[in-house]
Amino acid sequence: MRSAAQPKQHDVILGNVRAPLSLIADPEAFGGRRERDCLVGHLVIRGERIMGLTDGDADIDLHGRLVTTPFVEPHCHLDKCFTIERLDFSGGSLMEAIAAQASDKRAWTHADLRARAARALEELWRAGVRLARTHIDWEADARNPAHIPLAWAVIGELCEEWRGRMTVQRAALLPVDAMADASYADGLARTIASTGGVLGAFILDQQNRREGILNMVRVAMRHDLALDFHVDESLAPHLDGVELIAQEVVARGFAGPVLCGHICNLGFLEATARQRRINLIAGAGLSVVSLPSSNLYLQDRGNGMPRQRGLTAVKELMGAGVNVSFGTDNVQDAFCPVGTHNPMMALASGILGAQLEPPLGAWLPMIATNAALALGQRLEPIDHSTVHSLIVWDTRDLSSLISGGAHNWRCLAAMVP
Ligand SMILES: [Zn+2]
Repeated sequence: MRSAAQPKQHDVILGNVRAPLSLIADPEAFGGRRERDCLVGHLVIRGERIMGLTDGDADIDLHGRLVTTPFVEPHCHLDKCFTIERLDFSGGSLMEAIAAQASDKRAWTHADLRARAARALEELWRAGVRLARTHIDWEADARNPAHIPLAWAVIGELCEEWRGRMTVQRAALLPVDAMADASYADGLARTIASTGGVLGAFILDQQNRREGILNMVRVAMRHDLALDFHVDESLAPHLDGVELIAQEVVARGFAGPVLCGHICNLGFLEATARQRRINLIAGAGLSVVSLPSSNLYLQDRGNGMPRQRGLTAVKELMGAGVNVSFGTDNVQDAFCPVGTHNPMMALASGILGAQLEPPLGAWLPMIATNAALALGQRLEPIDHSTVHSLIVWDTRDLSSLISGGAHNWRCLAAMVP
């Protein structure tokens, strides 16, 4: 056991904690004893600051419980969640899900939206989330770019109510062809900027997707907006949305943040083309969020038995230095009929879908520090945190936590005697 700091007289020492190595910026300086993917020891707290791990006497014993940063949900849909019980459709391809969800919008009243989104936020909170981004459908009205959809307003009210406990970003979700009109794109960006939102679009095979992407990068720079795309959510190798985004971001010198979700077809490109596209994504500084549950549910349909997983090339992207995270995406709606708002479950699905190996703690940044970076935020690692920003779980078992077990957490500050 190495000691990070000699405890001083007024330090508080929390005995026997486990801290995931992957959430510590400088494990060498943190002290403690290494056990697989964790450092173990007595946590020294000076004032509110985390000093590191030591041994010897402790003020209280935490019996090996896990101490982590909070977690981050980089991609969900609070406007659509929990609608599956009232949807009447069969099939389940992406296009059928879009049609079913569109017809459900008739039921989107203030009370309905608020009840469903509030339930989702409670789930996120119980999962230890303090930063989240939700997409919200935005109906393009070319005559009135200042029009704010009901769901945007209702979820905005909830974001305000949660302020101080959880930061929730709203990203507008439009079809990219609506953004091909430069004047509309600029007006819309102004509206979104005025509400503190993120500009986003759904890019598949729309004919004028290039013009839409060019306009989005242009107005994002003009109005200082982050960008977020649902892009190439298909196995069709000819889709090139992410390539167009990367090229425009580089050409314009846009510093982002730009987050690209899905990119399902990346794994279906021939090896040289795939590596070229991955290098382009890395060179443009794009972040990627993989969304395993909806990809597993929606991709490779219509050919009898599903054979393809539909996830993007997670390991290859990370190997090229791309910032990759996992997101929950849809929960109990037309796009994914099951699920819960818990980044641990997204990570667990990603571990299965992308075949990520144990020890599992190595992947935690994908729903913590990496995910925060994708949202343009910085989540401090454990060794740069205070007792107010860390959480203690009622388990010592990282694999149980990642498996989505019903574990409670408390703020570390509440454990300090
Ligand atoms: Zn989505």
